[in-house]
Amino acid sequence: MDYSRVIDKLFTRQLRDWDVAGRNYDALARATSRSLQMGESLIRLQHNPERRRSSAAAIDKGSLSRRACFLCTENQPSRQRAILWGDHYKIQVNPYPIFSRHLTIAHLQHQPQRLAGRVGDMLSLAADLPDFVIFYNGPQCGASAPDHAHFQAGAKGEMPLCDEILHATTHLLADSDEGFIGYVDELGRSLFTIETTTVRTAERYALRLLDLLPVPAGGIEPMVNVLCWWDNTERSWRMVVFPRRKHRPACYGTGEGELLLSPGCTEMGGLWAVPDEKDFNSLTASQVQGLFNELCMSHQDLGMVIRNYGQRWDDMGPI
Ligand SMILES: [Zn+2]
Repeated sequence: MDYSRVIDKLFTRQLRDWDVAGRNYDALARATSRSLQMGESLIRLQHNPERRRSSAAAIDKGSLSRRACFLCTENQPSRQRAILWGDHYKIQVNPYPIFSRHLTIAHLQHQPQRLAGRVGDMLSLAADLPDFVIFYNGPQCGASAPDHAHFQAGAKGEMPLCDEILHATTHLLADSDEGFIGYVDELGRSLFTIETTTVRTAERYALRLLDLLPVPAGGIEPMVNVLCWWDNTERSWRMVVFPRRKHRPACYGTGEGELLLSPGCTEMGGLWAVPDEKDFNSLTASQVQGLFNELCMSHQDLGMVIRNYGQRWDDMGPI
């Protein structure tokens, strides 16, 4: 199926027929934005009051069990439409956008957010939606529905990191005829990057990496944000994995000196949706760098993962 054409139609109809989506995409088109230069990396700030519901979402078990899950079809507004993708997912317009086109791709069943077993789905989605970057927020790293498996997708070209990483120096951990995995240390946050020409190789690199990352107490998987897209010129997939050590910053809140920010994939990608006007006006590059330092894997832990990758997987032979 030509998903690009079907998604074009979905946006046209939903923005016309569903008042909430129409209003919020209009507001986003008029939103104020400004940029910060953080070392080698550009950070784009977007004043987006509607994202308050996501930044301030309560995701503790008690709160989740009391609310009606907004990704389950039976709880969704009657105007919200879906396109089925494969046997297990539905593609929908995200009515509270950060991107000029923002999709949510939720599993058809209510089951926990988890990456294991879904890396291949993420890559296939990226190939079917070549105009979008697909992203995955771990259950403790920005997902506002950690109890319902889902990806999101944002229009390409709106997260500065996706271009920056193509020009950054990648230090290789492993490579083969089908691609490589490496890390980049010049963009102000710890990250690994994978480029491959096959789904199988990307899956193997990603799962080998995830296997080496620590799982937090009470968690079901390592804390990660993941971006993935299909590069039509290179005919290859690109994945970026941001290992995290913390969900929300110590300064999280709406009080004096606090920031209502709960960073996930888009912020790791350099696009910060800031709900509070005061925060939007005052945020500085060094504060953003401080938040990355607090939330992302430390240099020391990153070094340990890099060493362990070589020791664990070097003698496993070619992929
Ligand atoms: Zn659900």
